[in-house]
Parts: sequence; structure tokens; C-alpha cells
Amino acid sequence: MLARDYFEKQEAERLAPYGLRSAESRGRRYPEEEHPLRMAYQRDRDRVIHCSAFRRLEYKTQVFVNHEGDHYRTRLTHTMEGSQIARTMARALRLNEDLAEAIVLAHDLGHTPFGHSGERALGALMKDHGGFEHNEQSLRIVEVLEERYPGFKGLNLTFETLEGIQKHRSSYDGPGGETFHQPALEGQLADLSDEIAYNNHDIDDGIASGMLDQAALGDVVLWRENHAEATRRLAGAEERLIILATIRSLIDLLVSDAIRTTESRLTELGIGSADDVRRCAERIVGFSGEVEEKKAELKAFLYDNLYRHTRVIRMGTKAERILEDLFNTYLSQPEQMPSRFVSRLSEGDEIHRVIADYIAGMTDRYAMDEHKKLFDPHERV
Ligand code: MG
Repeated sequence: MLARDYFEKQEAERLAPYGLRSAESRGRRYPEEEHPLRMAYQRDRDRVIHCSAFRRLEYKTQVFVNHEGDHYRTRLTHTMEGSQIARTMARALRLNEDLAEAIVLAHDLGHTPFGHSGERALGALMKDHGGFEHNEQSLRIVEVLEERYPGFKGLNLTFETLEGIQKHRSSYDGPGGETFHQPALEGQLADLSDEIAYNNHDIDDGIASGMLDQAALGDVVLWRENHAEATRRLAGAEERLIILATIRSLIDLLVSDAIRTTESRLTELGIGSADDVRRCAERIVGFSGEVEEKKAELKAFLYDNLYRHTRVIRMGTKAERILEDLFNTYLSQPEQMPSRFVSRLSEGDEIHRVIADYIAGMTDRYAMDEHKKLFDPHERV
């Protein structure tokens, strides 16, 4: 039977000099025996997939709350689409595919119920108590909140996976005490894959839900060009299929532009190792100036027409009210939370943080059910 050292050797031969090699990982906080078969980042990816916060992504909002329909993206399917884009890019750039995949699979674990409105509500409630931010929360989940091993809290992921998850920190300490400014390329790429995934699937869901007007999308250069091309190529096909073809070519365009741009930046900057990337003042993975500009226009369109759509705003406001009510109830009477959260208080954890951890971990439907149980006298407690 083939063993881990064989795969590590194969991996080392295949990767670019700035791709991270599993065998050279800076390791885990709590030392563990290596797996006989799986390499370090493969193991990280598997740990993320098996954790409870990952399963709950299925019932968390991306843009559409779960009860609005079974066809829309959820946080889970968004995560899966993002991870496959990351794998394509990692493979093409000869970076570590397993690592990029592990980072994307973990990147949204810290999202609250009800997407960004939920995050806004928790952020306001936590304003004077350390704040709330979903990337930080993703990190808290994999470092502290998941309890699956007897010897330590969290998933004990490698330094490199954690580095990729904490994407929004402007600088951080490397294990040798050196200050790094950027995550390695696999982390940078995860960030971009996330964005490519949501820009495109939000158009798809937006049109399917009737909330985005396809004619209005014609004002957006990226859409107009790709839609015209798809219409020519698929002459006579029904519009639904042309829309899907347009979205496919948009993803292709963004992915290949990012790969090309990243390759030329790596050459220009003379990057020869992963630490060169980390020391670099600027992000290396990115789009060309032209595509960046067109993509910004698309994002602005989605912001105005989908994320600020009356239906999204109405649901968002309702969601904020639900989370505020839950938060204040637990604050005045912490015993209403499950015992594993209550017991953290006697261990000295700050009450606002305990409540935020509990609420952030909820799915949309759990939060709605819980709200009903607490506030609707007809509902069983
Ligand atoms: Mg995301």
C-alpha cells in the first residue's frame, strides 16, 4: 500500500517553489502523530468537513433565507462552489490544492444565521464587548469552539490553514516571531475564489428568484459582453440556458484572468518561496486592472439591486430583531441557554462572548424556532 511519504514526494515534485508542501508544514499547536496515509492539509480538510459547524452551513443563509426555497444557494453550497474554484486555480498555479480547499471549506464556518444582517446585529450587540466579525469567528470555531478531541480544544489545524482563515488581519506573527503581511498564496486564492463564487451564483439566484431584472443587468459591461457572446454561440436556445452559459463564461473569464495576472505578478516581484509571498507588502493573487474595474461595476450592481432589494432588507430587519431578542433574553437570563454554554460562565468566560458564540452557531431555522419558543405563548418551550 502506498504511504504518506510517497504522496508527499509526489506533491513536492509537482508544486511551484512558492506552493506550500505538506511535509514542510510549520505544524500544529498540539503535536500529533502524522497520519499513515493522508498528508497534513488533506487531514485539515477532512477535519473541517467532519466538524459540526460545517454541517450547520446547510441551513445558514447566503442571500436567501432557507425557507424561501430549496433551489437557492445556502452557505454550504456556496462553500462547495468556492472550494472547487480554489482547486482549479491552485492546480493551474501549481499551488497546494488540498490546502486551498481546506481554507475555503472553513472560511464561512463563523457566519451567523441570516447572513450579513445577522452579522450586523451581532456586531452591534458586541460593540463594547470585543466586537463580532465572521472571519474571526471562523478562527474561533476551529481553534476553540469545536470540541472533538480529548487532549485539546478546537480542530488543531496546521499553521498554514489557520493563516489562510484569518485572511483579514493586516499582519500577524509567524512561528519564528517574524511579522508576516500576507497569507501564503493558497490563502489569497481562497479569498478570490469566494468572491468569484458569490458574484456568479448571486446573479443566478437573483434572476431565478425574480429579484434581479435581467434587462437591467445589461447595463453591466461584464454581463453584457458575455451574454451577447453566449447568445451568438447558442443561437435559438432558450433564454434560461443562455443565462447559465453566460454565468459559466463569466466564471471562466474571472478564473483565467486571475491565474494569468497572478502568474505575471509572481514573475515581476521575483517571488521564489512562500515566505517571499508572506513578506510582500501587497496581495499577489488578483485580477488584472481591466477585469477588476468591470468586476467592481458588477459588484456595485448586485449591491444596489439584490443585496438592497426590498425583500432582502425586510428579511434582514426581521433577522436583526430575532437575534437582538435572543441576545437580550440570554443576557438577562443566561440559564435559558443550553448547559454547555451556561457552564462556560462559571469557568470565567465573559457572558456577551458566550452568548455571541451560541447565537453565531445557530442555523436560520434554529434561531427562528428558538425565537418562537421564547416569545410565542402558544409554542412549547
Ligand atoms: Mg464566503
